[in-house]
Amino acid sequence: MAKLVYDNTGRLLFTREMKEEYTLLMPQMLPVHFGMMKKLLECEGYKVDMLTTNHRCIVDEGLKYVHNDTCYPALLVIGQLIDAVKHGGYDPHKVGLLITQTGGGCRASNYIHLLRKALEKADMAYIPVVSVNLSGLEKNPGFSLTLPFVRKAVYAMMYGDLIVNAANQVRPYEVEPGAADAMTERWSQKLVDGFQAGKGMSRRQMRANFDQICSDFAAIPVAGEPKIRVGVVGEIYVKFAPLGNNNLEKFLLSEGVEPVVPGLTDFIIFKIYNRVADVELYGGKWIKKFGCSLFMKYIEACQRDMIEALEHSGRFRAPGTFQELHSLVQGYLGDGNKMGEGWLLTAEMLELIHSGTNNIVCTQPFGCLPNHIVGKGMIRKLKDDYPYSNIVAIDYDPGATRINQENRIKLMLANARGLTQSQPARPREEPQTDREPQLAHANI
Ligand code: SF4
Repeated sequence: MAKLVYDNTGRLLFTREMKEEYTLLMPQMLPVHFGMMKKLLECEGYKVDMLTTNHRCIVDEGLKYVHNDTCYPALLVIGQLIDAVKHGGYDPHKVGLLITQTGGGCRASNYIHLLRKALEKADMAYIPVVSVNLSGLEKNPGFSLTLPFVRKAVYAMMYGDLIVNAANQVRPYEVEPGAADAMTERWSQKLVDGFQAGKGMSRRQMRANFDQICSDFAAIPVAGEPKIRVGVVGEIYVKFAPLGNNNLEKFLLSEGVEPVVPGLTDFIIFKIYNRVADVELYGGKWIKKFGCSLFMKYIEACQRDMIEALEHSGRFRAPGTFQELHSLVQGYLGDGNKMGEGWLLTAEMLELIHSGTNNIVCTQPFGCLPNHIVGKGMIRKLKDDYPYSNIVAIDYDPGATRINQENRIKLMLANARGLTQSQPARPREEPQTDREPQLAHANI
């Protein structure tokens, strides 16, 4: 059995020996993106299990070991990991837990300490916790994010966004149920295999893959009238994770609507841009600003390739660029609003409204102050400026019942159906840069 080794602060390390013997358990947030991430980690020699459990015991475990005023995503992630160790059939002496540290000012940087406290409380302090971060925070001899791995992960994220975007526009209309999911799995595996062979990671190869992904999804047989579109925004975990939002996308599909979920790439660019904004707002090293600006420009260029591929497909709607989102939010929130999802959350609601998706579910986790300000806190203002916007804030917390959440969404959908009948659809409007109030068009 691997020896337990501690650093000079008393932190249990994940050693090279453990890499050979242990299984790393990772929470899931975005099923497609994280699925590719898992495969990439396996290619690096780690044994990894991505947790897809989704039941009430997870919340109960979280409540048992985490203070109940902790934000709901932290409670869920920690509850899911502890539940897996206790009831997932693993040897607790042969598992390590993977958790991200964002390095920002929000609690997401500190989940790791809560997780260690929870393990101590559960008499499992011998389980190593591994931080996944790009901020040079905790390091472990048996786990490292090498540059080639980070490069593959960044590409996986962008491919993941395109796949999810195309799949979301096919799934509600597919003639053969499961066809979009099968295509998603096929492309995820194909891309990871390509990465391992050093393929798919240049702009030229990426553009070719983007076009091929779009045409493969466009070839899936579909039928039926366009459905009401419903945007999903919110704090990143409850927006994307089926465990966090009680399978929101599945529920929306079962209600006969088309979910529109803005991707992860904008969030990543937003996080990099925040470091540039820090230097501009508060001062700092020019080299940091320069380096971050360069990295941001590269990801933005890849994002433009993705948008062009969707536009050229002639079949799919494309999202706007990060710069378009940024210009939409001018006059609403400044760059200093960067905790949690910050100004990006409001910008995503504005983009949805401007692109004809004015029915929006704004997912709000309990205990998340920053996103209550930029999410729920902005809805009144948006409704004043866009009277036809139809936004509902849904709270996710340990005591909220699924039926209550779904009933509130059904009420919003009843309004959406009423608006569709009373308003003619109009074509997409150009992003609005001045702040004149205007009527957003009713969507279908
Ligand atoms: S953004 Fe909200 S949910 Fe996420 S870590 Fe911060 S407080 Fe918690």
